[in-house]
Amino acid sequence: MLRAVVFDLDDTLVDQRSAAAAAVVAWAAEHGVTGVDGAGSDVAGSDLAGSDLAARWAAVSVPLFARWQRREITFAGQRRERVREFLGVTVSDAEADVLFAGYLERYEAGWVAFPDAGPALRRAAAAGLAVAVLTNGDEEQQRRKLARVGLAGDAGVLVASSVLPAGKPDVRAFRHTAALLGVEPGVPGPGSTGSSWPSVLMVGDSLPKDVLAARAAGWDAVLVDRDDAYAGDEAAAGVRRVRSLDELDFQPVRTAR
Ligand SMILES: [Mg+2]
Repeated sequence: MLRAVVFDLDDTLVDQRSAAAAAVVAWAAEHGVTGVDGAGSDVAGSDLAGSDLAARWAAVSVPLFARWQRREITFAGQRRERVREFLGVTVSDAEADVLFAGYLERYEAGWVAFPDAGPALRRAAAAGLAVAVLTNGDEEQQRRKLARVGLAGDAGVLVASSVLPAGKPDVRAFRHTAALLGVEPGVPGPGSTGSSWPSVLMVGDSLPKDVLAARAAGWDAVLVDRDDAYAGDEAAAGVRRVRSLDELDFQPVRTAR
């Protein structure tokens, strides 16, 4: 029986991709990185320049952030390397920190919750389910993010990977969260089929990190595919996919009498 719903934070509850894209365009321009091909291009301010810069920032950031999830580098270290790689500069740690702060200020100013986030969190709680957020991120920053976007009161327990031995998709992230919530990953179903009824549902936008990893940990999972990016994706076959959190209908937990 379902006992808990665990939501991913970035790009599931909070539109972090838009915040990062807007922030990096303004920040990069400040440092002379403006176009499709970097400095020298004259397409700054166009959608093309924005999408290119955002894509390049993501291409630099994602692998470095993943290295932090595996604890191969520090949280501060991945920020410094992102600055160095993206801006193509050789700078000290202290200088990189100052440069990153300029990005961070803009990024944080852009944090906004998706309109369907608060209602979904409240529906889960109203159904009698434990609610938590499991996020690959720094605990202090993610806590601030929830507060800033007005979701802190509804988000339940926050589990950030900075306090875990490793982030998603590592199974330990899921085990730790289930233990915190006091739920077993799955309980045996009826009959002799050995089927299980997962007691935790993961809701997230990453197929490998949220959905497939949660299922490997014995949880149920739903893929939040806001842009329909996974339509027809073979890897997503057999995965429950929603375009909006509004589609999630949580069944109330029946208490034994
Ligand atoms: Mg996410």
